Amino acid sequence: SIVAQRIAAGEVIERPSSVMRELLDNALDAHSTSIIASVTEGGLEEITVIDNGEGIASEDLPLCCESHATSKVTSFEDLYHLDTMGFRGEALYSIAAVSSITISSRFLQNDAFSITIDNGRKQAVVPGGPSEGTKVTVSGLFKEVPARRQFLKRPSTEATMCKNLLIEKSLAFPDRSFKFYSDGQLKLDLRATDKKQRILDALSTSQNIVPSEMLELFDNAGRFSLYALASSPAIFRSDRSHIKIYVNERPVEEYSLVQAVSYGYGELLPGGSFPYCYLFITVDPTLVDFNIHPTKREVKLRNKAEIHHQVVAMISTQIKRTIP
Ligand code: ADP
Ligand code: MG
Repeated sequence: SIVAQRIAAGEVIERPSSVMRELLDNALDAHSTSIIASVTEGGLEEITVIDNGEGIASEDLPLCCESHATSKVTSFEDLYHLDTMGFRGEALYSIAAVSSITISSRFLQNDAFSITIDNGRKQAVVPGGPSEGTKVTVSGLFKEVPARRQFLKRPSTEATMCKNLLIEKSLAFPDRSFKFYSDGQLKLDLRATDKKQRILDALSTSQNIVPSEMLELFDNAGRFSLYALASSPAIFRSDRSHIKIYVNERPVEEYSLVQAVSYGYGELLPGGSFPYCYLFITVDPTLVDFNIHPTKREVKLRNKAEIHHQVVAMISTQIKRTIP
């Protein structure tokens, strides 16, 4: 029923940036190289994500908003070898329950087709759509669920949350290009590049950092590898807000690893100060469990102690080496 569907949606879709998160994940999973996202009125009016990925076959369009309609996991075992951002098949289903969503797509050399689901009411598949990839438009979010709408912030705040979410995701995929528009204005234009440059490009939208003060650190310990773009001890902050941890391309909130970064700097930084550090951990998928709630950013790492140790060691030895 639509009531059950809306209750399920409430757990996944809290605000425009949750829609943005799910649409970006799908665009990334579709192997797109160019992703264009836009919001109007902070996404309260409309959120659109256009990708140039592999597309959706017209016969699958009516299915992709069904509950558990995932094309990404076919066996329970797959959950332990995840190489996609999505796997639950409930994002589009949830979004469709609390908005009007139109999915338009072109698959292979076929003609493009579109479908609209208006607050759970599925309409017919009709011809028409992009010349490549997929375009998803979500409009009137929570229009029929006023109780949820009242928890949203001002449009400008919601727009900033969407932009920050896109920046956060884009750091893990520097080889894809991302654009972000708010109310028709281009706010972000991130060209495909390498990891260091992507982080510097994204940082430059909010911080003044001299690129030469950011150091690339690498470590490969067999069952996992580490990459960090970390500040020299000459620049630091009074908060931890620029220590960011990613595990297999996903931003995670893992306090013990944030601490490991700080331990690595140790005495190199004055007490109570923190570095800029973007740490990317790549670990064998069988050692990591993301099979938790999509809005939570927890991760279960089976070899956390080993990773923690290696992060401290990498930072302390490699940062020290750069000091004359
Ligand atoms: P999940 O990503 O967990 O599989 P979603 O509800 O997010 O579930 O999407 C359902 C399905 O719709 C996906 O498994 C995929 O097959 C298809 N899909 C959604 N968005 C796109 C897209 N941008 N490009 C290609 N396929 C897509
Ligand atoms: Mg998904």
